Amino acid sequence: MQKRNTVLILGIIAFAIMIIAQVIIIRGGWKQVDEMLYLRYRSLSQEANISLRGSRSMVFDTVNYLLDYYTESVVKELPKITDDKELENKKEEIFEYFSTVLNKEQDLSQYLSEYFENQGAENEFTHRIVITNLEILGDDTLSIYRDPSFRERRPSRDFEGLAHSLTGSTSTILVNRFWFDRNNYALNFNYFIDLTFKRSMIFRELSASLGMSIFSILIVVMIFLYTYRNLMEEKRLSNLKTDFINNMTHELKTPLATITVAGKTLEMERIRTDESKILDTAKLIGKQSVHLNQLINMILEISMWERTEFQLDKKKIDVEEIMNDIVFSFRTGCGDCASLTEKYTFNGAKADIDLVYFTTLINNLLSNAVKYSEKESVINIEGEADNNNISIKIADNGIGISRSDQKHVFDKFYRASSGNIHKYKGLGLGLYYVKKIAVAHGGDVTVNSKPGKGSIFTVTIPY
Ligand code: ADP
Repeated sequence: MQKRNTVLILGIIAFAIMIIAQVIIIRGGWKQVDEMLYLRYRSLSQEANISLRGSRSMVFDTVNYLLDYYTESVVKELPKITDDKELENKKEEIFEYFSTVLNKEQDLSQYLSEYFENQGAENEFTHRIVITNLEILGDDTLSIYRDPSFRERRPSRDFEGLAHSLTGSTSTILVNRFWFDRNNYALNFNYFIDLTFKRSMIFRELSASLGMSIFSILIVVMIFLYTYRNLMEEKRLSNLKTDFINNMTHELKTPLATITVAGKTLEMERIRTDESKILDTAKLIGKQSVHLNQLINMILEISMWERTEFQLDKKKIDVEEIMNDIVFSFRTGCGDCASLTEKYTFNGAKADIDLVYFTTLINNLLSNAVKYSEKESVINIEGEADNNNISIKIADNGIGISRSDQKHVFDKFYRASSGNIHKYKGLGLGLYYVKKIAVAHGGDVTVNSKPGKGSIFTVTIPY
């Protein structure tokens, strides 16, 4: 558990570092592209400005016409206003009118848009006109609005680099500062463009590296998850192996201890004189040796399967006949260990079966049904044949298997009752063996169980 948590925490830290590194790289890239686009569009707008030089007033023709017309009446109206409040309101109205006309009626945006397009650049920008000074020139000059930072009515043309300091943003470019000295008014304003498309353009520019970053993060996460899963699986297997070694030692020790005690018994004077005792002890030694031999053979066999292909000697066999034989021998072999009922509807089906392995398969399931039972064992065996498969169900009333254990009972060395490992003897190989045999016959085995109620093992084999 400790190791598992450490691996997880290390993985999460590595993942976080990787994400932070990628974010830093992308942010750096973003800034670079942002700056590059700003410089490109600033120089484009300046070029456009220069190319407009001779005809600059043309793009404001309509503006000037409307404002001239408007201010003619304003100039007459203003001297008549004596009330301060009314004058302030009038000033506001004049300012609003100028702003609206400037923003709506200028043709500079149209000109810039065409210029950008001709240069192969994007032209989805919005313009912004900011009045910095407005005076109405009647008999007296009346200041309508003056920006606190406004300096001179005729500014120098040098405004390179001003945009940054004016706007503090790389998305807004100051294209030009304009002034109009007309008969009735003096007007100064700045014309800005906002690069609305810039964000999507940067995305497009960075999409390749962004995609690569996300892709590499995904790959690393997948590799991590895969490695982590393998590590956990290895750990599970190693735990199973340790359990197996403990169980095997226990299993081997029992007959060995019996044989040792029997040997010591034979050394005793009073036993050697009693022939029937000698015979009993010899039988016991023989029985335990057979058991020991079976255990060793089973382990050897399993390890041999791992290295070589599973070889079956299949023959067409009447399934009902062989089931009757196996159950009969089991019943006789175990005495009254369980009450067994059988119900077959195989309809004379004959399947390709290896007699020895198939017998082992059914015997393993039957002996488990008896072994994993805490009350009197009741086993129902059902068999049927459909068009393609024969299926054999072995149902018991034993201790059952939890849902999480059901997933693993067919794994090598797996023992569900690992918390109580020596209560039921075993090596965790029986069901592994059952599964291997069923699969080698082209079939399968599944389990359905409820803890406390019992288990049903279903074997299917094609015929
Ligand atoms: P073993 O019996 O040697 O432990 P098996 O491979 O035969 O190994 O069984 C694996 C595990 O599945 C057992 O440890 C037991 O917990 C569970 N199991 C198998 N058959 C039954 C059954 N009929 N009822 C309840 N549990 C079973």
